[in-house]
Amino acid sequence: MSTKVIANTTIVTCDPGRTVLHNAAIAIRDNRIATLGATPQIRALYPGAELIDGHGKAVFPGLINCHAHLTANLFRGISEDFGFPSSFAFPEDVRDMISDEETTIMAALGAIEASRTGSTTTVEIAGGIHRYAHMLDKTGMRWVLAETTADGVVPPTFRAGEPVHAYSFQLRDKSLEQATRLFEKWHHGTETDRITCMGSTGLVETTSPNLLRAVHELAEKFDSRYTIHLNQSRLEVESLLLMRGVRPTESLFHNDYLGPRLLGAHVRFLSPSEISLLGATRSNISHQPAMAARRAVIPPIPALRNAGCTIGMGTDNNTQDMVEVMRTGLFTERIIRDDGMNPQPEDILTMTTMGSASALGMADDIGSLEVGKKADLFIINTQRSTLVPTNRIVSAFIHNGQPGDIESVMVDGEFVLKDGKFLNLDEDTIIREADNIGKTVWRRLLEKYPNVPFPITLAP
Ligand SMILES: [Zn+2]
Repeated sequence: MSTKVIANTTIVTCDPGRTVLHNAAIAIRDNRIATLGATPQIRALYPGAELIDGHGKAVFPGLINCHAHLTANLFRGISEDFGFPSSFAFPEDVRDMISDEETTIMAALGAIEASRTGSTTTVEIAGGIHRYAHMLDKTGMRWVLAETTADGVVPPTFRAGEPVHAYSFQLRDKSLEQATRLFEKWHHGTETDRITCMGSTGLVETTSPNLLRAVHELAEKFDSRYTIHLNQSRLEVESLLLMRGVRPTESLFHNDYLGPRLLGAHVRFLSPSEISLLGATRSNISHQPAMAARRAVIPPIPALRNAGCTIGMGTDNNTQDMVEVMRTGLFTERIIRDDGMNPQPEDILTMTTMGSASALGMADDIGSLEVGKKADLFIINTQRSTLVPTNRIVSAFIHNGQPGDIESVMVDGEFVLKDGKFLNLDEDTIIREADNIGKTVWRRLLEKYPNVPFPITLAP
């Protein structure tokens, strides 16, 4: 049995009392937290432990990202600034124009960014995850893999939110089969048990009632959650009214898709009755405040919380920076509440740790630094110009913290990032190759479709 003690440090526990321990130590035996308390006592309890000096540092529970699309970092610098759905009309997605090996490198880049910004658990939502699941396993991080299904028949230039008028049994069966295979291989399928799966339907408009039922059944069979992008644009709401005569969340309600297994993502444009439906069914919400703010929206999170929903936090496309997510979540919720005091930084940190863990059904194991829980955490250097004086480290970090403050990340009792260096990933090579892949594929797209309007001048 291996034992590690992080000593002489500040520990932000995110326990129910939101305890912050000072001059404290945390003992980790194998993959779980054994004890927390005053440094001398903990050191006396475990004299042979590997000692990590935490002086001038603070230990936080790992952040939990409920909604990521790792390889959408290919759109970085391009899709952030042109609305949603974006005004680009290319008949191909650049993600479909790179090889499986290149897709794996882009996903590895996303994993590096996730880790460097404090995430220990990430929900990866995509099609074809089997191509890079082995790489994700090797990172040592905790993943929830959500293989997206869809059965809408759409043209190549389809943009999210547009109406869909036909569904295909073949598409349904093919994507269901792919999702089932991922479950069978990866759901509690590794020795370390850091990987699980959840069901996923892409968009309300591209999912037939028949597929909704099938994914719900798949999730029940494996006792998992399922997710869907929900009420994410005005266009989607208009399309659902046109297609089914009801709004998106109402459509899911009529198809028995709301409830405690649901992780509804985005929920930006909701009617009061949809908020009531989500709350009454105890549906979980994945809130991506930074992506929402980029798209000029603040979702009605306070109303959803008051209605009874559990709220977790996520990133979405382009970036996996959960430090930015926490700060934007604080700012935008204060704006929508017209309240300069609420939420408090501790509320936001709790949403991003215990809130996300609860939304994913993982709160017994992760989300706080408490005895018996899995040791998922990150360590920041507090002796930074942006963080001192450290009178209240949670507030200092949420308001002013930088990803670069994060020195080490531990998942399941093992470091994946230690003193700024990745133990399982070749960061320099991945960044260099990802830059090349991203530059090359966009140039290829523009050469292939020279007549599609594109307002950006790419760097050489
Ligand atoms: Zn998404």
